[in-house]
Amino acid sequence: TYILAIESSCDDTGAAVLCNDTVLSNEVAKQEIHEIYGGVIPELASRAHQQNIVPVIDVALKKAGITKNQLSAIAFTQGPGLMGSLLVGSSFAKSLSMALNIPLIAVNHMHAHILAHFIDEESYSKPEFPFLALTISGGHTQIVKVISFFEMEILGETTDDAVGEAFDKTAKILGFPYPGGPLIDKHAALGNPKAFAFTKPKVPGLNFSFSGLKTQIMYFIQKNQKENPDFIQENLNDICASVQNTIITILLDKLKMAVEETGIHQVAIGGGVSANSGIRKTLKEAETKYGWKTFIPKFEYTTDNAAMIGIVGYYKFLEKHFSNQEVVSKARIPF
Ligand code: ATP
Ligand code: FE
Repeated sequence: TYILAIESSCDDTGAAVLCNDTVLSNEVAKQEIHEIYGGVIPELASRAHQQNIVPVIDVALKKAGITKNQLSAIAFTQGPGLMGSLLVGSSFAKSLSMALNIPLIAVNHMHAHILAHFIDEESYSKPEFPFLALTISGGHTQIVKVISFFEMEILGETTDDAVGEAFDKTAKILGFPYPGGPLIDKHAALGNPKAFAFTKPKVPGLNFSFSGLKTQIMYFIQKNQKENPDFIQENLNDICASVQNTIITILLDKLKMAVEETGIHQVAIGGGVSANSGIRKTLKEAETKYGWKTFIPKFEYTTDNAAMIGIVGYYKFLEKHFSNQEVVSKARIPF
């Protein structure tokens, strides 16, 4: 079975080809245009998708070594995401499925961040059902109980900002270009995580809140800059390390609660923020510290990519979960 997968939910245009659960190619065209604006501009994103989609798919097919006539189905991101971006991917997927007369498969982007763990990779084992997934990305922060490929239950989620936003907004305050998450990670590795203390929000149950942290950091910087205009430059690594450490502690505390409440000891992370080296290290350590079995995705399957859409497409293909031409993109999508 050859699946062509298309991901266009936000600002990256992705195309991948899978043979069953193996990734043959996984291409992504990043949109640099947003860097100067300090965030994704939806109108520019959809335009760039339109420019990128044909060449990216061409390269994905070429690298996979197959032609479009060999494809068994087309999978695409139905949502959640930016409407104008989603429409480019879905319209293309619909047209191609009609032209080739092969099934069309609509995929939930957040399921894909989780199910990326089922991509066949020599280097890692797959989780067994049920397991817990911590999905941390630019738009979401969720603890999900994954019962089967298509049965998932949200146990907790953010009540305001996503963890990726906490990283990106902090980065903006520090003067980094968008998206600043990876830069915080880089500087954090060189700093002291205990240099500065930030208070953690008190949120009931397994829910999260990150908007207060951003405000706290903003005031902290303003206050210190008044006394020392070079405060950021002189303390950059320590600030990054301390912010990152606070975020990791918030996430880990909730994960511990979720493990306790459910009795499930398998924990997988997914989404763009799971690329963070501090989070990856903390999760790895949790294996010996708490006796969990943890699953950390390969780097290229953390931030938005089409391979993760393809693996969901493959499992839906096996179940014949096909969509028709009337399927619509959804900026928000029920889990
Ligand atoms: P969603 O999946 O919720 O729709 P999205 O698709 O826009 O959102 P992803 O591509 O999954 O988001 O993740 C992007 C986020 O990941 C950005 O906020 C980015 O800063 C963050 N990120 C990427 N790498 C790192 C890193 N090493 N450390 C911290 N954050 C990171
Ligand atoms: Fe994403």
